[in-house]
Amino acid sequence: MKRRVAVIGAGWAGLSGAVECVAAGAEVTLFEMSPLVGGRARDVAGVDIGLDNGQHICIGAYSETLRVLARIGVAEADGFLRLPLRLVDAQGLGLRLPDGAPMPAFACAVLRRRGWSWRDRVALLATAFLWKRRGFVCAPSATVADLVAGLPASVRQQFIEPLCVAALNTPAESASGTVFLRVLRDALAAGPGAADLLLPKVGLGALLPRPAVAWLESKGATVRLAHRVERLEAVGATWRVDGLPFDAVLLAASAHEAARLNAPHDAAWAARAAALLYEPIVTVYASSPGTRLPEPMLVLHSDADRPAQFVFDRGQLGGSPGLLAFVVSGAAAWVERGLAATEEATLAQARADLAAALRAPLAALRTIVEKRATFRCTPSLDRPPMRIAPGLVAAGDYIAGPYPATLEGAVRSGVAAAHAALS
Ligand SMILES: Cc1cc2nc3c(=O)[nH]c(=O)nc-3n(C[C@H](O)[C@H](O)[C@H](O)COP(=O)(O)OP(=O)(O)OC[C@H]3O[C@@H](n4cnc5c(N)ncnc54)[C@H](O)[C@@H]3O)c2cc1C
Repeated sequence: MKRRVAVIGAGWAGLSGAVECVAAGAEVTLFEMSPLVGGRARDVAGVDIGLDNGQHICIGAYSETLRVLARIGVAEADGFLRLPLRLVDAQGLGLRLPDGAPMPAFACAVLRRRGWSWRDRVALLATAFLWKRRGFVCAPSATVADLVAGLPASVRQQFIEPLCVAALNTPAESASGTVFLRVLRDALAAGPGAADLLLPKVGLGALLPRPAVAWLESKGATVRLAHRVERLEAVGATWRVDGLPFDAVLLAASAHEAARLNAPHDAAWAARAAALLYEPIVTVYASSPGTRLPEPMLVLHSDADRPAQFVFDRGQLGGSPGLLAFVVSGAAAWVERGLAATEEATLAQARADLAAALRAPLAALRTIVEKRATFRCTPSLDRPPMRIAPGLVAAGDYIAGPYPATLEGAVRSGVAAAHAALS
């Protein structure tokens, strides 16, 4: 008889876990409390101009995400625009990696970087090669700021800090050096293409969530949307999910919900999941008809008065021409100031920094705040483990693992939990 598996939560972890279970021959029921699938990487409901809840930067090293997409029939070229890594601002200053093996390409980009002195360039390269020689490992207690304390201020402010907030959504002063180096290792010390940018060129819902549901249903899985799981009960070696019987449960709900559902079974695990802290991300969508930015993604210089670190030209990414998305990561201070103030400051920053590129006045369209966008990725963070009890496993970007809160972290966790649930 097929093993009956309940998957709770249809974010990227739950969807990937469900796909893996079905591929391994299990009978899957997927529960999702929202009427929409995708969790924190989804389309925005009720908006007809094709907005996502946030911009998602992926890289070539997201190998499990690409593998799951291929399994459900989404070719990389249909979902992403692949570009050699470019982190440049509106003035064209920044790093542009040429094709080829990532570490030599990175060295080449640093040596060619305009606007930095030779001292800046040599200091960054020497530090990067030292990290590589040490296997991209540091003391567990080190922050990213500790790791780069010896680098010139220009390199820290124009490269490390935006990269850190993009990868970990946590400011360098409090971000985990270990996790930062792990991201660098996967991007720079891997084969050609690992550091490439993969920018979604379809809405997030069309990238993995909806194709995954279509694939699951075509294989006979049951998908129950708008069903918030209220109760998880152990019955001998099996489980009941809101009264329905299963052999195994893959708990891929958000950490808070997983803590609530799991509290009666493992209070210590629930306490660890509930103790995680979060960083918000704000996305300001605006439109400037006729505008095409020099790159599909540009770095912006943020400070106490300028909120955004990146702008995406959605017109170059399958969206309407002139649709721009400004990203404010690590946005706790801006959320405190309020959404109207954040939107106004972002538009002022954009009008100044993108003046040469804007072809028409910039008009705000919509501002979206995700208060719990990602867990705060601090040194020696106590993340709960995947295995909870026989037949009960957890998945999600927050589960113990080497990655920060990312799509790849969620997908890897979902796949690993599926194997554990079926073993
Ligand atoms: C604005 C923003 C920008 C981001 N940028 C990037 C980026 O550039 N690159 C990157 O890689 N990552 C990025 N991320 C992070 C990435 O989106 C997340 O790491 C990933 O989506 C987490 O997936 P998950 O499945 O672990 O969790 P979630 O997406 O939170 O999924 C959990 C699901 O469980 C459901 N659920 C909860 N409780 C229950 C219940 N009781 N019953 C049924 N269902 C339940 C929820 O509704 C949800 O759908 C970003 C996130 C945000 C919000």
